[in-house]
Amino acid sequence: MNLKKVEVDVTKGTAWRGGGTTIGEAYYHIANASKDRYGFPAGTCPTVGSGGYINGGGFGHMSRKFGHSADNLLDALAVNAEGLLLKRTAMGDAMFWAIRGGGGGSWGIVVAWKLKLADINRNVTIFRIGRAEKKTVVNFVRKWQAIAYNFPNGFHLRAILAANSSRIIIVSFSK
Ligand SMILES: Cc1cc2nc3c(=O)[nH]c(=O)nc-3n(C[C@H](O)[C@H](O)[C@H](O)COP(=O)(O)OP(=O)(O)OC[C@H]3O[C@@H](n4cnc5c(N)ncnc54)[C@H](O)[C@@H]3O)c2cc1C
Repeated sequence: MNLKKVEVDVTKGTAWRGGGTTIGEAYYHIANASKDRYGFPAGTCPTVGSGGYINGGGFGHMSRKFGHSADNLLDALAVNAEGLLLKRTAMGDAMFWAIRGGGGGSWGIVVAWKLKLADINRNVTIFRIGRAEKKTVVNFVRKWQAIAYNFPNGFHLRAILAANSSRIIIVSFSK
């Protein structure tokens, strides 16, 4: 929890991010340091930590356009089982591959991640639409499954299926 530093290199479009930073902290510091020029493709929940998240791949609203978090990882600093602090070159290809999707807590403790930042468009459109009637939910989800993968990469439409407090199945679409 003390590994909170985020150092942004605006000229190179990269950042070192502490292994204890949450998604929200990383988004905030990257946007702030680059005056909203850069973002990073990560998840939707600001409280999720980088350790489990990037180790697990990391998918979010920007992933169709920029890839998973793990696709945008340039380097990492990790402590292995022998207590050695390793950079990418020292840990080797196998471990660097494993920490980009192999799951947290298995390959070493990542104390910092080096990220390739995404040069983003400052103008984005977002919306959220919810539907609760059973027939409508089924129809919408069917349609979404049939067309969503064909959308341009700049358009990400997520569907969340859940039950509300009255146990009615709902679907909510967000972009
Ligand atoms: C509310 C919520 C929203 C989410 N949204 C998304 C989303 O939009 N996209 C998505 O892809 N995923 C999402 N997830 C899933 C999330 O990526 C995983 O739950 C992830 O494991 C969380 O990582 P953490 O570091 O916060 O969790 P933790 O429970 O702290 O860690 C998970 C595992 O990683 C290990 N670990 C933690 N830090 C490190 C480290 N520095 N080095 C090595 N291992 C470490 C832990 O030991 C543990 O085994 C969401 C989860 C929640 C709870």
